[in-house]
Amino acid sequence: MIDIHCHILPGVDDGPLTIEESIVMAREAVKEGIHTIIATPHHRNNKYENSKTTILQKLSILKKEIIKENIPLTILPGQENRIFGEILEDYQKGEILTLNHSDYLFIEFPTSSVPRYAERLLYDIQIEGLTPIIVHPERNKELLENPDILYNLVKNGALTQVTAASVAGYFGKSIKKFSTQLLEHNLTHFVASDAHNTHNRTFKLNEAYELIARDIGQDYRNILLENSEKVSLGEKVYSEIPQLIKKKKFLGIF
Ligand code: FE
Repeated sequence: MIDIHCHILPGVDDGPLTIEESIVMAREAVKEGIHTIIATPHHRNNKYENSKTTILQKLSILKKEIIKENIPLTILPGQENRIFGEILEDYQKGEILTLNHSDYLFIEFPTSSVPRYAERLLYDIQIEGLTPIIVHPERNKELLENPDILYNLVKNGALTQVTAASVAGYFGKSIKKFSTQLLEHNLTHFVASDAHNTHNRTFKLNEAYELIARDIGQDYRNILLENSEKVSLGEKVYSEIPQLIKKKKFLGIF
C-alpha cells in the first residue's frame, strides 16, 4: 500500500520532532501494510515554510536512517502547499515540489474557506502542465457547507484526496458523512493518511479502505489503491465524471 500524504520528516512541521519519532512512525507504517510513503511537509501554511531544498535534504537524512534500521519502507519527496497566489512563480523558481517529481501537485485550502482566486489558480496550474490535487476537502468548512464549489473544481480538472481518519469517523460524524458523499459522487480520487504521529494523528488506512470496500464496494477500494500507486509513478489516474451532491429536501407535511 502507498500513502501519498504523510508528515514523517523530522523537525519540519507539526509532524515528528526528532528522527527517532520519524523512525517510530516508519515502523508503524510498515505494520499498517504501507511499503511507500510520500513525505509531504507543510509549506506556506502561515506557520511552516519548507521549500524544495529543505525537504530533499531532510528526506535524504531520513532515508539513510531507515536503511540503517532495516525498515522495509520507501520514502519519496512531496510537499503540502497551502494555496497562495504566487505558487506558480515559486514553482518556476524551483521552490515547489510535486509528488515524487511527477506532474501532481498537492494544494491545501485554508481550514474554513476557499479563496476566491482558487478556481483561476487551479486552472493556471493545469495550463502549466500540472494536475492539482486538493487535500482533505472534507475538512474544509466552506466546502462542507457548499459542496458545489468542489464539484466545479473537480469538473474543471482538479483531483482530490480524502483523509483516512475522516472516512473512519475520527474527525466526527459530519466529516465522515461528507467523506462518504465525496466518494459516492466521484468527487475524490485518493485516500491518504495525513499522519502526523503515532498517537492522535496516525495512519488509519486499513480501517478506511475496509469501510470503503464494505459500504461502497471492493472495486472502488481497488481503484483508490491503484490511484495512489499511479501517482507515485507519475502515471495517469482513474477518475469518473463527478456528480453533484444533492441536498435532501425537507419533505414534512405542512
Ligand atoms: Fe497534511
